[in-house]
Amino acid sequence: MQLMMTLTAAASIIVTIDGPAGTGKSTVASSLARRLGLEFLDTGAMYRAIAWRALTSNIDPRDTVAVTELALASTLRFDWKVDPPELFIDGVACGDAIRTPAVTAAVAIVACNADVRRAMVRQQRAIAAAHPRLVTEGRDQGSAVFPDATVRIYLDAAPEIRAQRRSEQLSAKGVHVDAAEILQSIVSRDASDRARSEGPLVRPEGADVVDTGGLDVERVVDALEVIVRRHARAIHELPTLGTRSTDEDETP
Ligand code: C5P
Repeated sequence: MQLMMTLTAAASIIVTIDGPAGTGKSTVASSLARRLGLEFLDTGAMYRAIAWRALTSNIDPRDTVAVTELALASTLRFDWKVDPPELFIDGVACGDAIRTPAVTAAVAIVACNADVRRAMVRQQRAIAAAHPRLVTEGRDQGSAVFPDATVRIYLDAAPEIRAQRRSEQLSAKGVHVDAAEILQSIVSRDASDRARSEGPLVRPEGADVVDTGGLDVERVVDALEVIVRRHARAIHELPTLGTRSTDEDETP
């Protein structure tokens, strides 16, 4: 019995990474997953896909009944054979179409729809059951969806720094957006993520907090890897993690 419990525990490692927009969650979460030999789930993409589908179906994102029906009728599926996994909605690849400013504005509204959230949470738990060695990132992963996860991390950074990063990312893609506009969009997305009643953005109690403000991507991933290995060591799961790192010493 004891042996069976140990083996079962070793098979499952859920790492949650939450935080506000622009903390670099997706980039660092997918990189961390790769380093540790875990899979990666981008839950923001799921909300974006529903918002995108609403826009392309001429459904007003504020029409909660229609958006709920749409969410319940849509099939979201990740292709796990590619890295990072690619999201399909009703068989159509989402690609960059879910990253446009129009979708970003719509998703802030869609994500406040409690019925849509419940449908997404159900799917996220089903995904974790099928992919139990997972780094999952979003807003509510450690607080509401996987409160018993092996490791729960919260990323933060000042809004000005997050806006600056976003502006650099967009410039690199040749898109020039006014810096003040980006800051305004980040501040308003933070406010709506924090204010909603279902699955609000909160720092999960007991989570490890990392301020990404003064760190580049690699340094953030290093810090997260140290945290995960420290927790994994505590529950004797270290041998089941990938071995790329030099970390074996976990001094933060
Ligand atoms: O992370 P990303 O910016 O792609 O997420 C898009 C939007 O989806 C966020 O602004 C947030 O409102 C919502 N979201 C959420 N819960 C999650 C993931 C994302 O409400 N778990």
